[in-house]
Amino acid sequence: MALSSETVQKALYLKEQTVKKEEHRYETDLKAAIAKNPRIREIDTELAAIGTSLLGYSIKGDLAAIEECRKKSEALSKEKAELLSKAQVREKAVFCKACEDTGYVSGRLCECVKSVARELAVKELNDIMPLEGSGFDKFDISYYPDEAKEKMQKILSYCISYADSFSKNSENLLFTGKSGLGKTHLSLSIVKEVTKKGFKVIYGPAQSLFTAAEKERFSYSGDTEKLDEIMEADLLVIDDLGTEFMTNYVQSLFYDIVNSRLLKKLPTIISTNLSFEELKARYTPRIASRFIGEYSLKTFVGNDIRVLKKAKEQK
Ligand SMILES: [Zn+2]
Repeated sequence: MALSSETVQKALYLKEQTVKKEEHRYETDLKAAIAKNPRIREIDTELAAIGTSLLGYSIKGDLAAIEECRKKSEALSKEKAELLSKAQVREKAVFCKACEDTGYVSGRLCECVKSVARELAVKELNDIMPLEGSGFDKFDISYYPDEAKEKMQKILSYCISYADSFSKNSENLLFTGKSGLGKTHLSLSIVKEVTKKGFKVIYGPAQSLFTAAEKERFSYSGDTEKLDEIMEADLLVIDDLGTEFMTNYVQSLFYDIVNSRLLKKLPTIISTNLSFEELKARYTPRIASRFIGEYSLKTFVGNDIRVLKKAKEQK
């Protein structure tokens, strides 16, 4: 998974802060312990002195004296450790044994930094979408009328196992149905789980995704970072397709995205309030034909849940 250098920098910074905080905690505890028991500082001074004489003996090659120093320093270290433990000074914690909190293992980014970076990516996504309220556990089947329950339960189970077994070879999904039937909720729930697994997920309402890509195309920087990410993300979720402002450019952009991801065999989830016929009319049969066979169609049924929830709240 390609983490952006920005998130990696942030993750490294956070790690540094955690280590610094722990160092500060240790220094403060140590100072307090020394204030109560000056012997701790004396031991440090004695240890330093032994270190200096040890250097001299090493140069002379005085093995007996070296051994003597070793014994003394061992005893002093033990005494210090006992005093510190009595004073309840916890040793400085090492948060990651693999990199010893440097963030790198043989010049490569340590897994501990990567996992923080992934968490940050989820958080950043969270800024633009209500991930907090989503989650399969918050999908309430009781809001659906009896005749819709079975079908919606099936869709829910399907989505759970889709997220569970997600891989870059997962199916493409097309969520259709009127608004307020939980399409966004289930899309976000999948996003949440798949992001947790460390996959790179791009989620956005069609309008904002297309606008971001369009801005790039018409800027002078030649930057295509956002469009690249949309094209290359492990999972792309386009929410609310059909609400975007339609231009010839958007139409061809949408075709490019769908087509390019199909060629790369990268999964895409699209949700829309439009019926299949309406999709065909809006995006040309050329695009609609890509959906047939290449996308697994999930039709949401029921009554607008947002309206039902509001009514319940007002009761
Ligand atoms: Zn590490």
